[in-house]
Amino acid sequence: MSGRVVVQKYGGTSVGDAERIKHVAERIVARVQAGDRLVVVVSAMGETTDELIALAQQMTDEPEARELDLLLSTGEIVSSTLLAMALKHAGQPAVALSGAQAGIGTDRRYGRARILSVDPKRIRQELDTGRVVIVAGFQGITEEEDTTTLGRGGSDTTAVALAAGLGAERAEIYTDVEGIYNADPRLVPEAQKFSEVSYEEMLELASYGAKVMHPRAVELGAVQGVPIYVASSFSEAPGTLIHGGPFMEQRNKVLAIAQDTDVARITIRGVPDRPGIAAHLFEPLGESGISVDTIVQNASVERLTDLTFTVSRSELNRALDIVKPVALEIEAPSVLADTHLAKVSIVGAGMTSTAGYAGRMFRTLFEAGINIELITTSEIRITCLIDEKQVREAVRALHKAFELEEG
Ligand code: ASP
Ligand code: MG
Repeated sequence: MSGRVVVQKYGGTSVGDAERIKHVAERIVARVQAGDRLVVVVSAMGETTDELIALAQQMTDEPEARELDLLLSTGEIVSSTLLAMALKHAGQPAVALSGAQAGIGTDRRYGRARILSVDPKRIRQELDTGRVVIVAGFQGITEEEDTTTLGRGGSDTTAVALAAGLGAERAEIYTDVEGIYNADPRLVPEAQKFSEVSYEEMLELASYGAKVMHPRAVELGAVQGVPIYVASSFSEAPGTLIHGGPFMEQRNKVLAIAQDTDVARITIRGVPDRPGIAAHLFEPLGESGISVDTIVQNASVERLTDLTFTVSRSELNRALDIVKPVALEIEAPSVLADTHLAKVSIVGAGMTSTAGYAGRMFRTLFEAGINIELITTSEIRITCLIDEKQVREAVRALHKAFELEEG
């Protein structure tokens, strides 16, 4: 069989019920008729993964990681097999493969496994017989043949890894929005869709709240040089291509606004200011896979300092369980946590003279009556922590202040 190999991925909403799965099958048939050879990664139907987690929690507060992963992997088995059946019913030869059967090898970190290898032998064989290959996303297998999952939203990563392993031209991610916008269209009706965006900018946007793409998938795309096309599975509207350039226009301005309400802040008061303390605190957090962001250490007063950092809300309790004993050990008198904050960020590769952009951002928030609790920056991003209740206002004001209505 000739024809280029295309890897597609359909998200949970796109395969949310039987009718939608049949609709996806129709789209696949159309692409095969146009001459492409398709490998299709699917997420679990709708809220399946959340439902499976809730079920497990009815058995025990702390389900064993191995069984939990095996359980969660079934969500994608359901959607992939149903899609293969729908295709065959429509006269299109197809085969469904689990992550293991598709050759996805991972490390042993249950719930957040990393892909170590892709062996696309079986996929190639199936493609050569003229079948469309449907792959259950979000999962892989360890050397010991235990099933692992890649972390929430991990099917995007499966798709990009397979595209890299197969030498496919690009990975196409089909979802319930039409692409990447310069602000969340639910908050800003004037938000503009991009036709293209760089890996670098997309990585910041995804890491700082844009939910459309999983940050790890973007990172993998950048490392492997796999362009990622994001578009809607419900329309034919043109989407957004994430790639490494060259770009038609070197933008010299803010590209987009992102917001993230999945933020919890932890402050450790009265930390002794001596070498090794920060390592002592953050190493155990890292070892348990808690990703820490936005770390600030204040100037010390009388050899005591405050250490503040943020984690995602779902990891707050786990983080506190680790931090509190360490605080006790180093004789820091108190650990505070709050969950009413959110991040708003401005992102743009052209923001080289950050000072000007920072000033404008802070003034805009000030004029909207919004207090800034904490500020962090990267080369191409400025993030402010603000009250969660003011997120919509902040995003709208910034979208306007940086003249993003015209795209
Ligand atoms: N089903 C998994 C989740 O909900 C993986 C995915 O959707 O990509 O997180
Ligand atoms: Mg999902």
